Formats: sequence, structure tokens, C-alpha cells
Amino acid sequence: MNKELRSEWHLLPLFGEKEKQADLLIISGPCSAESQSQMQATASGLARAGVKFFRAGIWKPRTRPGSFEGIGAPALKWLVNSANQNNMTPLTEVANEAHVRAALRAGLRNFWIGARTTTNPFAVQEIADVFAQLPEDVKHSVTVLVKNPVNPDLELWIGALQRLYVSCIRRLGAIHRGFSAYGEKFYRNRPEWRIPVELKRRIPELPLICDPSHIAGRRGLVEKVARQAVDMNYEGLIIESHCNPDSALSDKDQQLLPEDVGKLISSLGKRRGKAPDNCLFTLRDEIDNIDRELVGLLARRMNVAREIGELKRVHQIPVLQPERYRSLMEERIEEARELGLSPDFMKKIFSTIHDESVNQQLQ
Ligand code: PEP
Ligand code: MN
Repeated sequence: MNKELRSEWHLLPLFGEKEKQADLLIISGPCSAESQSQMQATASGLARAGVKFFRAGIWKPRTRPGSFEGIGAPALKWLVNSANQNNMTPLTEVANEAHVRAALRAGLRNFWIGARTTTNPFAVQEIADVFAQLPEDVKHSVTVLVKNPVNPDLELWIGALQRLYVSCIRRLGAIHRGFSAYGEKFYRNRPEWRIPVELKRRIPELPLICDPSHIAGRRGLVEKVARQAVDMNYEGLIIESHCNPDSALSDKDQQLLPEDVGKLISSLGKRRGKAPDNCLFTLRDEIDNIDRELVGLLARRMNVAREIGELKRVHQIPVLQPERYRSLMEERIEEARELGLSPDFMKKIFSTIHDESVNQQLQ
């Protein structure tokens, strides 16, 4: 989205005015609605833990056929009833027009769009079109949370949010659930924090909710990711939970017991401190000065690179000199290591600088 459009995001609080004051929005519930008793037991456990928003997947987009694909429409009443009986607000995932219509008929007003759906503009548009046709009062009560697409494509994520915005959905939020990465072992979905950070920079008024369950992929890592999100000042968390996680029909490795969700949220304090005196100000001032020096040094470096480019042109020497690039990289990484900087970080910085030098010499 360009700068001109940015100022047009006029959003309303998620889930209606009543939740405006909530400190940290907590949504929890099972990956999938499996049975009436599982939904009841999970909802009542979560209500005891103070959770107000109850999630469950009714239609499950699975990577491979043959896995449990959700109960479908018959489970909607389990979601609505177990939420109502426990004084919670229900939410579910919708991936096409039929899902939205069935969920609306069951009385649901709060939805999320899953990571696989966000990648598909046709599907998102189909969903947005259903919302666009709703009577004004219903439309204004609808909340839609858009998960990031499975691939690290910020424009696709923003595009999905825009499609809903254009359909006059004003209770909009984004869910950061991580990105698929081939061969990743630590996370199920790599967080790539810079992408939601950039989303927040581009649309500051958009609430950002983290889904530590789908990032982590395993129970033991959920708390760490949740804590990072809170430290990053996210507005909320969506955490998968199940009354008996080991028997769950989908995502059993990452679901928490409702009481463990309670323990987790009571241990998560939002950072609300103030830096003593002018300490933060002074350090930021120092960072600003260092950054200015860096910019000056980069400009000097590019000037020299252009002079070298000119010499190479006159003497008919090719622009790219792999041997020089290799030795420069090795030496800088070694020097940086001695100063306590990570080799990975140096590699990224110097390959970007080198790319730009090559560009300058090609002009
Ligand atoms: C889910 O929330 O259960 C789900 C399917 O998530 P995602 O779209 O993030 O994979
Ligand atoms: Mn899940």
C-alpha cells in the first residue's frame, strides 16, 4: 500500500467497544472442534483461566488429504453454545463464501482468515464480497483477523486486509503465525519478526496479534514466542488449547491445557515501564549519531566504488571480481568476530553493500 492510501485506514476496536480497554487480548481454544464434550470442557477451563475469546476450527485446511479436515457446519453450534455458556465470544476460520454464510447463520460475527487462504486473492475477495453484501448493522459488528500468508510476502498480507477494508469491514486485525521455511527444524513456522514490524510501521492503527502456537509447533516453545510478542508490544495472542491435547485430531504437539494457558497469561506482564531520567533519550541520541556516521561512511564507500568502476571501464576489467569479493568478506567477518559481531550478520551487511557497489559500477 502506498503512502497516500495509508491515511485511509479508519479502524474500530476488535470485537466491539466493550473490549476496548483489554490490556492484552487473549484468544484461545482448540485447533479443531472435535466433539461437543471437548468444546465444553475446553471452553469452561479457559473461562476459569479468564479467557474471553474462544477459537475453534470448523473447516480445517490440511496440507495432505486423509488428515482430519474438521467436522464442518454441524460443529458450529458446539462452538456457539460452549462460548455462550461460558460467557465467551466465539471465533472461527473461514476460507470461502459457503463457510462465511454458514457461520453467519449460526450467529458468529468474528472470523479469521487462515494462512493458506491469505495467499489466494480469489478466496479472500470471495469472502470480502459476502461481507460487503451484509446489512450495515451486521457488517459493523463483524471482526476479521487476517493471518499472514504462508510465504513471507507482506504485500499479499496487506492486499488481503485491503480487500476486507474496501468491503467496509472496520474491525480488522492481523495475526502473525510465522512463515513456512524448507528445512526449518526449530520453529514450525519461522517468525521473521521484521515482516509484522514492517506491517505495523505501514499501518500503525492495525492491531497485531501473535499466534505463538503455529510459530512454535511444540508446546515447550509456545511460552517463549508469546513472551517475545508481548515484549514487542503486540495487542494480543491467539493460543491453541485442548482439554486433552495428546488426543487432539490436529496440531496435538502444540496445544496447551486450558489451565496452562491461564498460567502463561498470568506470567506475561506487558512492559509498561519508563526509562529512568533521560537515559533512553541519551542512548537514542547516540544511536542517531552512529547511524548518521554509517550513512556518511556508506556514501564515501560508494564514491570510491564508482572511482574503481571508472578505472575498470578504462582498463577493460570486468566489474565482478569473485576472488576480491571472497577475500574481502573473509577478512571483514574475521575482524567483526573479534569485535563480538555475529558472522551471519556481517555476511548479510557486506553482501548488501557489495551488491550496491556492483550496481554503482554497472551504471
Ligand atoms: C489454525 O489456526 O488452526 C490454522 C489452521 O492456522 P494457520 O492458518 O495459521 O495454519
Ligand atoms: Mn492449528
